[in-house]
Parts: sequence; structure tokens; C-alpha cells
Amino acid sequence: MTETPDLGAPRIWVLIEQDAGQVHPVSWELLGAARRLASELDGEATCVEAVLPGYGVRHLAAEAFRYGASRVYLLEDPVLALYRNLPYALGVSRLAQTYRPEILLIGATTLGRDLASTIATQLETGLTADCTELTIDPKLRILAATRPTFGGNLMATILCRKHRPQMATVRPRVLPLPEALPRGATGEILAVELDLREADLPVRRLRLIPGAERLNLEHAQVIVAGGRGLGGPDGLTLLRQLADLLGGIVAVTRPLVDAGWISADHQVGQTGKTVRPKLYIAAGISGAVQHRVGMGDANLILAINRDPEAPIFQIAHLGIVGDLHEVIPELIRQLQTL
Ligand code: FAD
Repeated sequence: MTETPDLGAPRIWVLIEQDAGQVHPVSWELLGAARRLASELDGEATCVEAVLPGYGVRHLAAEAFRYGASRVYLLEDPVLALYRNLPYALGVSRLAQTYRPEILLIGATTLGRDLASTIATQLETGLTADCTELTIDPKLRILAATRPTFGGNLMATILCRKHRPQMATVRPRVLPLPEALPRGATGEILAVELDLREADLPVRRLRLIPGAERLNLEHAQVIVAGGRGLGGPDGLTLLRQLADLLGGIVAVTRPLVDAGWISADHQVGQTGKTVRPKLYIAAGISGAVQHRVGMGDANLILAINRDPEAPIFQIAHLGIVGDLHEVIPELIRQLQTL
């Protein structure tokens, strides 16, 4: 990087996460939050800016302007064509060392969680991970990042007084998607050249599920979720049949992931994903608080549990008390006749 930057205005940065040119919507949610934080800080004086790493991604800057970024740092390099931790982290860290943002926000996605911790280590700053709320502390005028703690029973608000940037990751779907400005909203694109060859280690990217559709649990309209009550991995077949009929996606509680029945990207809850579908079917799920924090905002929750006292019924809109191995096949039969 050759330019000596103007460090005048404080900056809030949002990392734009993209995969093969598809931006993860959490990036826009974070730009909305960054705008709100900037106005809480000092109105117009704080700049909301986006960092866009990748290769062949310049066209995405226009979208970032529509969601409120005034400047996009375009970090384009063939080394960044596919996500890998080290080159991405090195690129963003070097940029941050030069432009010194006050705040750096990253989505708490699989990629974001992996990347944020490396960036924080490289910048020797703190990281508040998996936040559910971001505000400005009224006295200290710094970021107040709130996240669940002690198994989800308490909310902790964490301040980073000393180190910069103040870093936070935020789960997808916990912040609202802001309204986009009309097409044609403009800003400045700053193409940054970094020599990332040293980070270009001979690492091969493995696609774990070749050809499979990306699991987009956070944005699914219908989710058919199962818990320990499924009784074993075979119970998942039943869920998949129901999900297919409803055009939905299968999700699970954490014990099923821990038992190796299904991959972690299906997990909903405190250490999994936050979802807000139109319909959430919870079958054989007790409704522990760590699960509920991830799905309690669903529009319609249908619980199926053989225990009428199961806590899931406290938040369910509809409940069926019964054995899921009888109830779900019956639901499937009924749907097939429609
Ligand atoms: P159980 O609690 O064992 O419930 C099984 C339910 O199935 C029971 O209500 C039972 O009545 C019912 N049942 C049994 N057989 C049948 C049948 N044949 N038909 C109908 N109903 C039946 N959990 C998550 O889900 N997501 C997280 O992200 C998460 N993060 C965690 C983080 C921490 C730090 C900790 C400590 C825990 C976390 N947990 C998480 C685990 C959580 O506390 C619960 O243990 C878990 O959610 C329980 O899963 P479950 O409902 O599948 O199992």
C-alpha cells in the first residue's frame, strides 16, 4: 500500500462477506447497525465504510453503497478468490493497521467466526464474539457489545476500553435488514493493493458436500427441527421427508451434532444458528433455553413432544402431545393427500 491515508474522521468498518460473488445478508445487517452506531456516536462525523475482500468482486461495491457505506476498500487479489483464513486475515489486518478504524464488525457466520479471531490476534485487540446487540456506551462513547453468557442465562455487555479496533461478530438475523437506498447510490471505491504472496500457502480448499446446495438455515421460511426425541440418526430421515413436502430445511439441537448424527451447520441455538422462519416444527425437542434463543422469534412454532410438561410448549403456538414417530408419519400422509 503506497498511499498515506487521511485519518481525520473516525471509521466504523463492516466486513462484506461473499462467496462466489454472493454477499451474505449479515453484511447488510451490519451496515445498518454501523449507520445507527455512527449516528449514536456523533451524527455525520463518523464514516461507515465497508471492506470487500475477494477476486472479481468490484461490482458488489454498488450494493454496499446502497446499504450505507460511504467508502468501499476493495481488496482484490487472486489469492483471495476462495476464502482461506490466512490471506484474508492478513489483508484485512494490514488495511486496518493503515486506516485504523475505531470499530470493525464481522458476521458471526462460519467464515466470519474463523476470520475474526485471526484478525483480532494479528491486531492484538479484543473480540466480542456472537453478539446479539450493539450500542454506544453513553458515558464512554465506545462500542457496547452485548452477548449471552453463562449458558444463555445472563447477557454480558462488553466494552473494549484500551485496544483498537473494537471488534465484534454478530449473528445473522439478530439485527434487522436495513432498507436499501435506491439503485445508483454512490460512494468511493478505494482499490487497495497488498502483496499477499507470503500468505499464499499451498492449501487446498475442500468442498465437504460437493454439488450440494448451500444450507441457508438462517433465511429458510420453513424449518423442521428434531431433538434427542428422534431416538437415533434414522429419525432424521423422517424429518427430511416432512421438510421436503413443506419445502423446508432440517435443523437439530446440539446433542445431535455432538453425537455426530448431522453436521454442525444444521444446529440452531446459542452455539448454533439464529433462525426466524415462518414455520418452525420442533419434534422431540425439550426447549432448553440454549435452543430457544436461536428459534424463539419464529412466526409459528409447532411443537411435537410426548411430554406435556416439556418447556417447548411454553413458547409453541401449536402443540401436539404424542410420539413423533406416530405424529410425523401421519402429518406426511395428510400432506401427501393435499
Ligand atoms: P432433550 O433435552 O433430551 O429433550 C428431548 C425431548 O424429546 C424431551 O422433551 C422428550 O420428552 C422428547 N421425546 C423423547 N422421545 C420422544 C418421542 N418419541 N416423541 C416425541 N417426543 C419425544 N442446545 C441447542 O439445541 N443449541 C445450542 O446452540 C446449544 N448450545 C449450548 C451451549 C451451552 C454452553 C450449553 C451448556 C448447552 C447448549 N445446548 C444447546 C444444549 C442444551 O442445553 C440442551 O441440552 C439441548 O438443547 C437439549 O436438546 P434436546 O431438546 O434435543 O434433548
